[in-house]
Amino acid sequence: MTAISKILIANRGEIALRVLRACKELGIATVAVHSTADADAMHVRLADESVCIGPPPSRDSYLNIHQIVAACEITGADAVHPGYGFLSENAKFADILDAHGITFIGPTAEHIRLMGDKITAKKTAVELGIPVVPGSDGEVLPENALEIAREIGFPVLIKATAGGGGRGMKVAKNEAELEEAVSTARSEALAAFGNDAVYMEKYLGKPRHIEVQVVGDGAGNAIHLGERDCSLQRRHQKVWEEANSPALNVEQRMKIGQICADAMKKMKYRGAGTIEFLYENGEFFFIEMNTRLQVEHPITEAITGIDLVHEQIRVASGAGLSVTQDEIVFSGHAIECRINAEDPRTFVPSPGTITHFHAPGGLGVRVDSGVYAGYKIPPYYDSLIGKLIVHGRTRVECMMRLRRVLDEFVVDGIKTTLPLFQDLVANQDIANGDYDIHWLEHYLAETSA
Ligand code: ADP
Repeated sequence: MTAISKILIANRGEIALRVLRACKELGIATVAVHSTADADAMHVRLADESVCIGPPPSRDSYLNIHQIVAACEITGADAVHPGYGFLSENAKFADILDAHGITFIGPTAEHIRLMGDKITAKKTAVELGIPVVPGSDGEVLPENALEIAREIGFPVLIKATAGGGGRGMKVAKNEAELEEAVSTARSEALAAFGNDAVYMEKYLGKPRHIEVQVVGDGAGNAIHLGERDCSLQRRHQKVWEEANSPALNVEQRMKIGQICADAMKKMKYRGAGTIEFLYENGEFFFIEMNTRLQVEHPITEAITGIDLVHEQIRVASGAGLSVTQDEIVFSGHAIECRINAEDPRTFVPSPGTITHFHAPGGLGVRVDSGVYAGYKIPPYYDSLIGKLIVHGRTRVECMMRLRRVLDEFVVDGIKTTLPLFQDLVANQDIANGDYDIHWLEHYLAETSA
């Protein structure tokens, strides 16, 4: 066991606060890092110590490995929690921390690399017994694309092996569209990730996005914490998530969960992870694994009562998991709404000063946010300013509560996505849990004047 006494949180915003809260509960000292644009941020105010690591652009601050390692050395932090985004899936960062004797609260660099390259990740998934989307065995090149596409059958999706955030993805409905789809996907992938390798998958028409939460201790023990349904997306970005999925029954849940937990045991995976699937006609198809905590993790915490950041810190220190699979009880239903500083229809970012802020409360309500009245949202980062998580004994109760809570939430001075959620919570398809990954885009197109 390597006892952890001081954690540097290499992130900002709501997730930095989220991690900070877990550290405080465990009696671990905290170090916040921040760019010059974030000197007034809540995570800086609440941490025991803070270090300015550079100017506003992320590449000079939150992505600057040297500055972060230096901040660890100066403050004597013995571990780093990367949150999500930024350096959370950067294997080089994990290697460098290791070389400095600092614990990375996450998986091994080897596992980050394995899952970070999607072609390798899919191959690994197959070896571990996880069902995958039918597709190319490896890289697709302009010269072999047609042959592979004919084998898979149109429509096909071209995806970047280094992909993330929905970038570098192109659909080809038929042979005529293929050449252009491959070349655009390759150039987008190169521009976004510095790697032009692409692969091909069968394009599924009406799937749901369902993902399984796993946690492993790195020594061959692993558990699953059920699934999250993240089908409500805009431009492949999640907007509303729920647990459990309205589409699954208990048997399906436990079956896919067990497949994932067994795979993580075989891998000797350490830390929290998410195995993402598309789900169509009763079948699951692996698309990728995220080797970190996800934005939507609180809905899993709501229905299991398990603090995922506590578990991450435990397994990073070698203390093992706090629960066994048999001890996990799934209770009720939870929904998360991602509150972005954006126009609720066009999704154009709306940075600026928050003049009034009132977070709702009451039974089953959680607001994870780093903002406050008078806070000026800097224009440099992601537009997520908070997450609203609502829990109820049933999905119906959860929706009733969400409706009430949305009426209570006040964020003035900037535009937010809150009005979109008021529309969604009143929608009949949503009430019925009847939606797939394209539902939201269709809805937005139909309802915007
Ligand atoms: P990224 O890492 O860029 O987010 P993913 O592989 O996780 O890429 O896919 C993101 C989203 O793209 C999925 O949630 C889904 O909406 C859509 N998608 C991915 N693969 C397919 C596919 N084979 N068929 C249809 N839609 C897909």
